[in-house]
Amino acid sequence: MTDQPVTTSNTRVRQVEAIVNGTVIDHIPGAMTLKVANLIATANDQVSIGMNLRSERLGRKGVVKISGRELDERTLSRLALIAPSATVSIIRDYQVVQKFPVPMPTMFEDIARCANPNCVTNHEKWSSRLAVVSLEPLRVRCVYCERGFETAELVLV
Ligand SMILES: [Zn+2]
Repeated sequence: MTDQPVTTSNTRVRQVEAIVNGTVIDHIPGAMTLKVANLIATANDQVSIGMNLRSERLGRKGVVKISGRELDERTLSRLALIAPSATVSIIRDYQVVQKFPVPMPTMFEDIARCANPNCVTNHEKWSSRLAVVSLEPLRVRCVYCERGFETAELVLV
Protein backbone atom coordinates (compact mmCIF):
# COMPACT_ATOMS: atom_id res chain seq x y z
CA MET A 1 0.00 0.00 0.00
CA THR A 2 1.39 3.43 -0.90
CA ASP A 3 0.39 6.48 1.05
CA GLN A 4 -0.93 9.54 -0.74
CA PRO A 5 0.20 13.01 0.29
CA VAL A 6 -2.06 14.44 2.96
CA THR A 7 -4.28 17.16 1.58
CA THR A 8 -5.86 18.34 4.83
CA SER A 9 -4.73 21.67 6.30
CA ASN A 10 -4.18 19.96 9.65
CA THR A 11 -0.39 19.87 9.94
CA ARG A 12 -0.44 17.46 12.89
CA VAL A 13 -1.26 14.49 10.72
CA ARG A 14 1.82 15.13 8.59
CA GLN A 15 4.35 14.30 11.29
CA VAL A 16 4.06 10.59 10.71
CA GLU A 17 2.79 8.59 7.76
CA ALA A 18 -0.77 9.34 6.76
CA ILE A 19 -3.46 6.70 7.08
CA VAL A 20 -6.58 6.33 4.94
CA ASN A 21 -8.99 5.35 7.69
CA GLY A 22 -8.44 4.77 11.37
CA THR A 23 -7.42 6.45 14.58
CA VAL A 24 -4.55 8.76 15.47
CA ILE A 25 -3.56 9.13 19.10
CA ASP A 26 -1.51 12.28 19.46
CA HIS A 27 0.10 14.21 22.33
CA ILE A 28 1.30 11.08 24.09
CA PRO A 29 4.06 11.91 26.59
CA GLY A 30 7.30 10.69 24.97
CA ALA A 31 8.03 7.92 27.46
CA MET A 32 4.54 6.41 27.15
CA THR A 33 4.46 6.01 23.38
CA LEU A 34 5.35 2.31 23.15
CA LYS A 35 3.14 1.51 26.12
CA VAL A 36 0.20 3.13 24.36
CA ALA A 37 0.95 1.21 21.16
CA ASN A 38 1.10 -2.07 23.10
CA LEU A 39 -2.08 -1.26 24.94
CA ILE A 40 -4.16 -0.40 21.92
CA ALA A 41 -2.93 -2.53 19.06
CA THR A 42 -4.18 -6.04 18.54
CA ALA A 43 -2.07 -8.62 16.71
CA ASN A 44 -3.79 -7.88 13.38
CA ASP A 45 -3.60 -4.09 13.47
CA GLN A 46 -1.44 -2.04 11.16
CA VAL A 47 0.26 0.46 13.47
CA SER A 48 2.55 3.43 12.80
CA ILE A 49 4.47 4.92 15.69
CA GLY A 50 6.13 8.33 15.79
CA MET A 51 8.45 8.96 18.71
CA ASN A 52 10.19 12.06 19.98
CA LEU A 53 8.25 14.42 17.76
CA ARG A 54 8.30 18.11 18.56
CA SER A 55 5.39 19.41 20.64
CA GLU A 56 4.84 22.90 22.04
CA ARG A 57 2.78 21.47 24.86
CA LEU A 58 4.83 18.42 25.83
CA GLY A 59 8.34 19.15 24.54
CA ARG A 60 8.68 15.69 23.03
CA LYS A 61 5.67 13.59 22.24
CA GLY A 62 4.61 10.40 20.57
CA VAL A 63 1.94 9.65 18.00
CA VAL A 64 0.35 6.23 17.42
CA LYS A 65 -1.76 5.54 14.34
CA ILE A 66 -3.98 2.51 13.89
CA SER A 67 -5.24 1.81 10.39
CA GLY A 68 -8.80 0.76 9.70
CA ARG A 69 -10.14 0.87 13.23
CA GLU A 70 -11.72 3.22 15.74
CA LEU A 71 -11.34 2.69 19.49
CA ASP A 72 -14.04 1.28 21.73
CA GLU A 73 -14.98 2.80 25.08
CA ARG A 74 -12.91 0.39 27.15
CA THR A 75 -9.78 1.08 25.09
CA LEU A 76 -10.36 4.83 25.47
CA SER A 77 -10.58 4.36 29.27
CA ARG A 78 -7.31 2.44 29.28
CA LEU A 79 -5.76 5.20 27.21
CA ALA A 80 -7.07 7.86 29.63
CA LEU A 81 -5.37 6.09 32.52
CA ILE A 82 -1.88 5.95 30.98
CA ALA A 83 -1.90 9.02 28.70
CA PRO A 84 -4.48 11.50 30.03
CA SER A 85 -3.04 14.32 27.87
CA ALA A 86 -3.60 12.42 24.63
CA THR A 87 -5.87 13.56 21.84
CA VAL A 88 -7.76 11.18 19.57
CA SER A 89 -8.48 11.87 15.90
CA ILE A 90 -10.75 9.77 13.73
CA ILE A 91 -9.51 9.62 10.13
CA ARG A 92 -11.74 8.81 7.18
CA ASP A 93 -10.47 9.08 3.61
CA TYR A 94 -7.31 10.88 4.84
CA GLN A 95 -9.34 13.59 6.57
CA VAL A 96 -9.66 14.25 10.29
CA VAL A 97 -13.42 13.93 10.76
CA GLN A 98 -13.38 14.10 14.55
CA LYS A 99 -10.78 15.18 17.09
CA PHE A 100 -11.19 15.17 20.85
CA PRO A 101 -9.22 14.93 24.09
CA VAL A 102 -9.19 11.39 25.42
CA PRO A 103 -12.42 11.19 27.48
CA MET A 104 -11.66 11.07 31.21
CA PRO A 105 -14.12 8.92 33.14
CA THR A 106 -14.99 9.80 36.75
CA MET A 107 -14.47 6.12 37.62
CA PHE A 108 -12.18 3.47 36.11
CA GLU A 109 -14.14 0.23 36.33
CA ASP A 110 -12.15 -2.96 35.84
CA ILE A 111 -9.41 -1.10 33.93
CA ALA A 112 -6.52 -1.50 36.40
CA ARG A 113 -5.84 -3.52 39.54
CA CYS A 114 -5.84 -1.71 42.88
CA ALA A 115 -2.16 -1.41 43.87
CA ASN A 116 -2.85 -2.28 47.50
CA PRO A 117 -1.95 -5.99 47.79
CA ASN A 118 -4.31 -6.35 50.77
CA CYS A 119 -7.30 -4.88 48.93
CA VAL A 120 -10.33 -7.17 48.71
CA THR A 121 -10.36 -6.71 44.92
CA ASN A 122 -7.01 -8.53 44.75
CA HIS A 123 -8.32 -11.50 46.74
CA GLU A 124 -11.91 -11.94 45.63
CA LYS A 125 -13.17 -11.95 42.09
CA TRP A 126 -14.38 -8.36 42.33
CA SER A 127 -13.93 -5.82 39.59
CA SER A 128 -11.74 -2.92 40.63
CA ARG A 129 -13.31 0.53 40.90
CA LEU A 130 -10.90 3.44 40.95
CA ALA A 131 -12.42 6.91 41.31
CA VAL A 132 -10.61 9.88 39.77
CA VAL A 133 -9.61 12.33 42.53
CA SER A 134 -7.34 14.73 40.62
CA LEU A 135 -6.39 15.33 37.00
CA GLU A 136 -2.92 16.92 36.94
CA PRO A 137 -1.33 14.71 37.95
CA LEU A 138 -3.96 12.05 37.45
CA ARG A 139 -4.66 10.35 40.77
CA VAL A 140 -7.28 7.75 41.61
CA ARG A 141 -8.68 6.26 44.81
CA CYS A 142 -9.88 2.70 45.26
CA VAL A 143 -13.56 2.65 46.19
CA TYR A 144 -13.05 -0.46 48.38
CA CYS A 145 -9.86 0.12 50.40
CA GLU A 146 -9.87 3.92 49.94
CA ARG A 147 -6.19 4.04 49.17
CA GLY A 148 -5.03 6.67 46.66
CA PHE A 149 -2.58 6.04 43.80
CA GLU A 150 -0.76 7.79 41.02
CA THR A 151 -1.53 6.03 37.80
CA ALA A 152 2.12 4.96 37.30
CA GLU A 153 1.63 2.59 40.26
CA LEU A 154 -1.22 0.74 38.58
CA VAL A 155 -1.21 -2.35 36.39
CA LEU A 156 -3.83 -2.50 33.69
CA VAL A 157 -6.15 -5.49 33.48
ZN1 LIG B 1 -8.20 -1.22 46.84
